[in-house]
Amino acid sequence: MPALLDVIGLTKHFPSPSGAVRAVDGVDLQIHRAHTYGLVGESGCGKSTLIRTIQRLLEPTSGQIIYKGQDIAAYKRAQLRTLRKEMAMVFQDPHMSLNPRMTVFDILARPLQIHGIARGKDALTLRIVHLLQKLGMQSEHLVRFPHELSGGQKQRIGVARALAVEPDIIFLDEPTSALDVSVQTKILKLLENIRKEWELTYFYISHDINLVRVVAEHMGVMYLGKIVEVGRTEDILRDPHHPYTVGLLQAVPEPDPDKPLGELQLGGEVPSPVNPPPGCNFHPRCPHAWDVCSQMEPELRMLSAEWSVACHRYGDDARAAPSR
Ligand code: SF4
Repeated sequence: MPALLDVIGLTKHFPSPSGAVRAVDGVDLQIHRAHTYGLVGESGCGKSTLIRTIQRLLEPTSGQIIYKGQDIAAYKRAQLRTLRKEMAMVFQDPHMSLNPRMTVFDILARPLQIHGIARGKDALTLRIVHLLQKLGMQSEHLVRFPHELSGGQKQRIGVARALAVEPDIIFLDEPTSALDVSVQTKILKLLENIRKEWELTYFYISHDINLVRVVAEHMGVMYLGKIVEVGRTEDILRDPHHPYTVGLLQAVPEPDPDKPLGELQLGGEVPSPVNPPPGCNFHPRCPHAWDVCSQMEPELRMLSAEWSVACHRYGDDARAAPSR
């Protein structure tokens, strides 16, 4: 079955006085309908720019975004209106993403009116109350302002706003990182129940590999604008191949305080996307780097039908790699 979303060689560069900022640099990924894809990487690796470019909130520099068989990278303004209805977004910070001067009713009525899904007070109220109930809230919340809601309730309104337009795919930008741990679990469970019931497709982005572990069947690992490992979440987390994925996993604190921390291999800072290192852009931080790593960029190579890694240790140069 063809993918719902097939991103091919997507690039987004921003001009700057010191040169192009290569925020997204030739990304390929596929997401199938009614599945959940999780993209993980440190802050500043390009995750947020990638999902905004896929939604055409940012103009791609190059590449294709094949959505339902159409290249939406070439869509004009009128066509983008339909896209806004089919692709929804849940933002990271519910405190910032809701207009403090609007009531819950007004916040949820707006997308319904813009996209002509419901008109008139009665139809809007019926629909909004139904949405609130789906999210575990009641009609009494209709007249509340965001400052009268808890953090979890605000994020439920953020999710309701995304669902209001009846999207096919929802992009979730660190949707629980601003919430308490107990609230995070409830929101994630709620999102999963809704996804199953409505057969939605989710694209999570997070710096937290544990979040991706919980929510996503397939995952990608992003470093400095590129996908370096992609596959089934279960496979990657059981046996990570890219040294950066290994480093991310080793940086996760052990729940057992008596268990020693793994040796942290992720030293140093993420280099600047304005002037990324030559060859493999992870080489200045990689404990396995050797000569070829600073000279040639590794391609994303298939380890199996659903698993690919961009690292010379798994390419033609693997035999020259120093043993460790
Ligand atoms: Fe490390 Fe080289 Fe693999 Fe890059 S290509 S991740 S530097 S071993």
